[in-house]
Amino acid sequence: MKEISCKLLVIGAGPGGYVCAIRAGQLGVDTVIVEAGKPGGTCLNVGCIPSKALIHAAEEFEKIAHMAGGKDPLGIKVAAPTLELAKTVAWKDSIVSRLNSGVAGLLKKAKVKTVQGWATFRDGKTVEVETETGTQVIRAETVVIATGSAPVELPFLPFGGPVISSTEALALSEVPKKLAVVGGGYIGLELGMAFAKMGAKVTVVEALPRVLAQYDAELTRPVLKRLGELGVEVMLGAKAKGLSTKGDALLVETADGKNAKVAADRILVTVGRKPLTEGWGLEQIDLDRAGKFIRIDDQCRTSMRGIHAIGDVTGEPMLAHRAMAQGEMVAEIVAGHKRSWDKRTIPAICFTDPELVTAGLSPEEAKALPGEIKIGQFPFAANGRAMTRQGEDGFVRVVARADNHLVLGIQAVGQGVSELSAAFGLALEMGVRLEDIAGTIHAHPTQGEGFQEAALKALGHALHI
Ligand code: FAD
Repeated sequence: MKEISCKLLVIGAGPGGYVCAIRAGQLGVDTVIVEAGKPGGTCLNVGCIPSKALIHAAEEFEKIAHMAGGKDPLGIKVAAPTLELAKTVAWKDSIVSRLNSGVAGLLKKAKVKTVQGWATFRDGKTVEVETETGTQVIRAETVVIATGSAPVELPFLPFGGPVISSTEALALSEVPKKLAVVGGGYIGLELGMAFAKMGAKVTVVEALPRVLAQYDAELTRPVLKRLGELGVEVMLGAKAKGLSTKGDALLVETADGKNAKVAADRILVTVGRKPLTEGWGLEQIDLDRAGKFIRIDDQCRTSMRGIHAIGDVTGEPMLAHRAMAQGEMVAEIVAGHKRSWDKRTIPAICFTDPELVTAGLSPEEAKALPGEIKIGQFPFAANGRAMTRQGEDGFVRVVARADNHLVLGIQAVGQGVSELSAAFGLALEMGVRLEDIAGTIHAHPTQGEGFQEAALKALGHALHI
C-alpha cells in the first residue's frame, strides 16, 4: 500500500474540482486530485459540452432540411440532407477527448498530482484510492469534496434497454424514430428538441402543469411555440408510470386520470440529478446535510473543519460555472486569501431553441421585495440584427428598483442570447443602475442593443419601440 501526503486533496475532477486544483497549484499549494473517470467530470464528458455539440449538429441539420423543404425565404436551394448520427457522435467525442487532454495538461502545468481511481474516505483527512497499480492512501490537511451528481432513476422505469438517461442519449448511434422524454426541465427539452430536429417524433411527458417550470411563462412562450413547430407533443400534468410489457411504449397517466401509451423506441428520463454522496465512505464522516446535499456555508465549508464541498454535491443551481466559481474561491481560501462570492449573480442558460438566459432576480422575486420595481422589456422583433438572422421571436427584460434604478435581474429569450449572459452577469456583479446600461454604447447591429433598449424602456424613453 502506497501512502502520500499533501496540503490539499480534491476528490473529483469535474469543473468544480479541476478548477479548484488548478488554482491551488497556481498558488503553490501542494495539491492532489483524485478522479474515478475522465478529467472534466459530468460537464465535459456527458453534460454541457457533448449536449451542446449535439444541439449544434441538430440545428445545422434542421436548417438545411428547412431550406430543402423550399419554405425558407433566403433563396438558398439545397437537396434534402441525411444524417449519420454515429459520425456526429464521433465528432462530439473528438471534442470531448481534446478537452480531456486539455484539462489533464492544465493540471500538470499547475503541478497538481492526479491519481486515477475511486476514492473512499477512511476518516476526514485520509482517503484510499483503488488505482490500477494497487491501493493508494492519501492524507491531506484540507479536503475538497467535488464528487458531483448523477441522473435520478425512477424505480418504475429503471435505466436499461430502451430507458436511457442523458448519458446514453448523448452516445446513440441512430436517431430514435419515436422518443418519449420524461421530465420537461432544461436537460429534457434541450435534448428532446435536438432529437426532434434530427427527425425523431418526440413526446415530452411532464408531471407539472408547465415545462421549464423554473422560468416565468412569458419567458418560455417562444420555446413552446418552437416545440409546436418542431412537432413535439407536450403532455402536461401527466405521470409516467412504467414501460409497456413489449418495451415499445411509455405508460402514462394523463392529467385527467386516464391511462395512455406513448409509443417510443427510446425513453429518455430527465427528472433531475442527485448528489453523489453515497458509496464512497462519506457515511464515515458525519457531515451535516441539507436534504440529500452536503450543507456548506458561504465559503463552501462543511460542518467538519478542514473539509470543503463544491459543485453539484452542494445543491442548486447545479451548474458548471457555479462549481468552477466555488472551486476557484476555495483554492484561494486554502492558500490563505480572503475570498467570498456573490451567488445572486450566477447566470443560468437553457440551450433550447430559442435560448433562455436568466441572471439575478425574476420579476416575481423582485416584486416580493419591499419597494416598487421597474421593468423594461424590448422585443427582438424590433432589433435589426435579430431580423437578419431570422430570430425575431424573443426579448430582453431588465428588472430594477424604482427608487434608485439598481438592476436586480435580467432575462432574455431569443436566438443566440446565451452570448449575452456575460454582459448580464457583469452588470449584476458591478451593481449597475439602469442609466449605466442605457448609457453604454452598444455596437450596431447586435442583439446586445436589445439590452440597452430594455434599460431605456424601463427609464421611459426607449428609442426603437
Ligand atoms: P461533476 O462534473 O459531476 O464531476 C464530479 C467528478 O467526480 C466526476 O468526474 C466523478 O467521476 C468524480 N467522482 C465522484 N465520486 C468520486 C470518488 N469517490 N472518487 C473519485 N472520483 C469521484 N451545466 C451548465 O452550467 N451548463 C450546461 O449547459 C449544462 N448542460 C448539462 C447537460 C447535461 C446533459 C447534464 C447532465 C448536465 C449539464 N450541466 C450543465 C450541469 C453540469 O454538468 C454540472 O453542474 C457540473 O458538471 C457539476 O460539476 P461538479 O464539479 O460539481 O461535478
